[in-house]
Amino acid sequence: MTETTAEAVAGPGANPRDEFGRALRDLRISVTDRCNFRCPYCMPEEIFDEAFPFQKRGEILRFEEIVRLARLFASLGVEKLRLTGGEPLLRAQLPRLIEELVGLDGIRDVALTTNAVLLPRHADALKAAGLHRVTISLDALDPEVFGRMSGGRGDPEQVFDGIAAAERASLTPIKINCVVQRATNEDQIVPLARRFHGTGHILRFIEYMDVGTTNSWDLSQVVPASEILERIGEAFAIEPVDPNYAGEVARRYRYSDGGGEIGIIASVSQPFCGGCTRARISADGKLFTCLFGSEGRDLREPLREGASDEALLERIAGTWLRRRDRYSEERAERAPARARRKVEMFQIGG
Ligand code: SAM
Ligand code: SF4
Ligand code: SF4
Repeated sequence: MTETTAEAVAGPGANPRDEFGRALRDLRISVTDRCNFRCPYCMPEEIFDEAFPFQKRGEILRFEEIVRLARLFASLGVEKLRLTGGEPLLRAQLPRLIEELVGLDGIRDVALTTNAVLLPRHADALKAAGLHRVTISLDALDPEVFGRMSGGRGDPEQVFDGIAAAERASLTPIKINCVVQRATNEDQIVPLARRFHGTGHILRFIEYMDVGTTNSWDLSQVVPASEILERIGEAFAIEPVDPNYAGEVARRYRYSDGGGEIGIIASVSQPFCGGCTRARISADGKLFTCLFGSEGRDLREPLREGASDEALLERIAGTWLRRRDRYSEERAERAPARARRKVEMFQIGG
């Protein structure tokens, strides 16, 4: 696919499709690569210590740069935005950014993924700025297991305070994400299901993924969706629910007794690349078309060198048009090459 074709397709209202026919619908924006946790599966603290060169203030995109990019992405068909990180609530004045994003033409959903520790402080301002909803990460109810999975930072009570603040601010429906790791928190699956049964919050279990290169991922550490469902099924009667929309990442289930809904994100055992309509921008302005990408396409330099909207659109649409990513399907077909460098989860935010 040539830039010329990209240019032709990237007019206002155009909706580029990648080489496998997938449209561009969702954009995840990382607003910082810093975090107040050190979850070993994401930012192991032996590597991400005080000496680690996190991005400096001038290196990360300014709010007006993010808003400009989001507007351009919206003109290419993006309808949903998610702010993430690192820990997005570490970014100063985040509500100012949200206020601008929710007002963009074509954007109908703006969400935030957070470890929730700072939510009690910010929930009201986020709601007032127009944020629609939050996804909160919680890997364990047991404080000792939680401690191990957060790198010794925070405790479950802080997360529950964050959930309560999100409820009070009506940042709902709240989704709760739990990454399941063999021999680490698999015994937390049923207690978490019990805790959120009947609350109206949607608990989602995520298979542990081989994102990045620092977390020593191994297939033996993945608890497959089938086993997660089996464990929940031993405690509750559950039944599958149709997807909300084509390409929904989580497989949905509901408790037969009316206790609400859960989701399973089976990216390893049942990959969903065929319906993947998601792009990601790192905090320093690189465009990634896959969670397992190596090199992003730089958008910051053209932004700062005064590129026109047309030139930026051409760069974004051109990248999407050439997209052939299907990493998780390839992983399922054959073990991926070990040596390849991949972007880290905290850089693009999951
Ligand atoms: N700091 C925020 C948080 O933890 O919610 C937002 C960024 S975090 C990278 C986004 C999500 O990615 C979290 O729910 C986290 O549990 C998940 N995650 C990180 N590393 C992962 C991995 N290796 N496999 C599966 N999920 C992962
Ligand atoms: Fe931080 Fe989220 Fe990564 Fe944990 S998963 S280290 S909270 S960015
Ligand atoms: Fe999308 Fe890449 Fe994940 Fe496949 S592996 S679903 S292409 S992000």
